[in-house]
Amino acid sequence: MTVPPATYAPIFDGHNDTILSMTKTGRSFFERSAEGHIDLPRALEGRLGGGFYAMYVPPPDPSAPAGQVPPGPELVPAQHELLTIFGRLLEIAQASNGRVKIVRTAAEIQACLDGGTHAMLLHLEGAEPLDPEGRALEVFYAAGLRSVGITHARRNAYATGVPIRTFPRGPDIGPGLTDAGKTLVRQLNRRKVLVDLSHINERGFWDVASITDAPLVATHSNAHARCANPRNLTDKQLDAVRDSRGIVGLNFAIGFLREDGARNPDTPIATMVEHIDYMVERMGIDCVGLGSDFDGTTVPAELRDAAGLPNLVAAIQARGYTDGDLRKLLHGNWIRVLRETWGE
Ligand code: ZN
Repeated sequence: MTVPPATYAPIFDGHNDTILSMTKTGRSFFERSAEGHIDLPRALEGRLGGGFYAMYVPPPDPSAPAGQVPPGPELVPAQHELLTIFGRLLEIAQASNGRVKIVRTAAEIQACLDGGTHAMLLHLEGAEPLDPEGRALEVFYAAGLRSVGITHARRNAYATGVPIRTFPRGPDIGPGLTDAGKTLVRQLNRRKVLVDLSHINERGFWDVASITDAPLVATHSNAHARCANPRNLTDKQLDAVRDSRGIVGLNFAIGFLREDGARNPDTPIATMVEHIDYMVERMGIDCVGLGSDFDGTTVPAELRDAAGLPNLVAAIQARGYTDGDLRKLLHGNWIRVLRETWGE
């Protein structure tokens, strides 16, 4: 496959599980690998200038009855494991000779994209390592944490997530935020940490929406009207994101893209662009970005990995988006929302 030269605006992406993939495979961030989706060489090839790097602690027992979610890990083991994952990401930046930077402000992200430094935004996917008093949040914030998803596909002290492998189904599964969850949203607001709504169930979504003073953000989710997986957002949820001037990042997972919900890698890139079209039509050009889920899922074979991003961009361009609109989709909207959320 010939990949056209990447001449478009740099990409800032809403979600990857690269640190998890590196831990599983033992591969290095600095060497081109045939495994997974992101490493620095492939990011440079696809003009992936950076993104949200998820730190995810798995549940002790991931099995749960069909259509339900398991309990998340307990506080202390979750903190213990997070320290290792967090440290590994800081190590990558340390060892990069200035090629990778942990970013803490929107201005830093913009400077990285302009200067060719890879921007790592540290995101916690599942709030189990955060104690209800907010002390761990202070420590992790000081170390660079700037985004928190309250839950993954599980239930914890704060919220309940949706099961991923249930289709077709809506996201209204299980109870909303607990009292501790409501307090956590206020703590995150006060610290100006982004609250990510991907994975949370519908009641939790609306609870966050009624409390938060920041734009609503789903870092890696799609449109439920086009693929009825509970991980995707209903039209009503997309409208709420739009009304808050928030953002939804397009998830590249085949199971969240296809109308039939099938996990078939033979899914055309056109299906991804159709989701973008739908979300732009519903929310406007200012509220849609990318949220690849690279290294955490199966993406269309036609895209392959970060080095294949030029194929996606070419397909978006072919739909008639202007250069200005394309720039918003590729990174501009993320930077706007992060600036409004973080205040800098
Ligand atoms: Zn996720």
